[in-house]
Amino acid sequence: MIQPIKRLGQNFLQDPNTIRKIVDSLTCRPDDRVVEIGPGMGALTGLLAEKYADFSAIELDDRAISYLNEQLPGVTVTQGDILEVNWEQIAAGSKSGSVSVIGNLPYYITSQIIFGLLDAREYVKEAVIMMQYEVAERLIAQPRTKQYGILSVAVQLACVPKLLFPVSRNVFFPKPDVRSAMVQLDFSSDRPDLGVDSDGLRRIIRTAYNQRRKTLRNSLSSVLAEKERELPEEFASKRAEELSPEDFVRLASYLLSD
Ligand code: SAM
Repeated sequence: MIQPIKRLGQNFLQDPNTIRKIVDSLTCRPDDRVVEIGPGMGALTGLLAEKYADFSAIELDDRAISYLNEQLPGVTVTQGDILEVNWEQIAAGSKSGSVSVIGNLPYYITSQIIFGLLDAREYVKEAVIMMQYEVAERLIAQPRTKQYGILSVAVQLACVPKLLFPVSRNVFFPKPDVRSAMVQLDFSSDRPDLGVDSDGLRRIIRTAYNQRRKTLRNSLSSVLAEKERELPEEFASKRAEELSPEDFVRLASYLLSD
């Protein structure tokens, strides 16, 4: 047993049914490479290692690593910060050339972990991850809703997100202050090449959302001035939250073209 540290987002799963349901949510094949983010005290780890031969886990907390080395001696647990990993290197040499990711995430860095996976989408097949329920709602949100924002647009352009099931606060120790949900991000289907520079696209989405109450004519005024361009009428009087992910791609292609 290790004493949970709040600052590391340590809320450990306790309920065998929930644990089984989470592990069963991965749809990848038994010979696929699977990596667990933040194994903690190993609630999911033992079952995952039984099911997947090419399995390893990445954990920041040395105490958890010593604990796991003792409890699950055959399982590879690497010490590291998940925000620093290179998913391309992790996927290298695997059977499919990609990696499937699973984890009950440390909630304080949920968005950064997701953005890291989106950037590595070529090397990631699937991610089955637990997060705060409200963040899960943002991932699947539709335009013109309160939840629809930068994360919704970025995620929906890179993969197919699905809210799998809610998870009660009562299955953790200590109990978190928030509700949780399991989410699947499916990167496996062939997404069309967006045809725009992804950094440029993200900058435009961020600039538009920085002043989400304003029309795009106003919120994007700095980009328009820099590019010496007017916005087409179909965009000019709309606000960021009214554009679909595909609209953002068309807008970015227009603004970023030479
Ligand atoms: N998987 C375990 C479970 O479900 O009981 C623990 C989940 S707990 C919510 C999140 C885990 O992520 C903790 O073990 C924590 O130490 C680890 N963690 C926190 N920050 C991390 C980081 N930057 N990189 C890797 N692991 C991290």
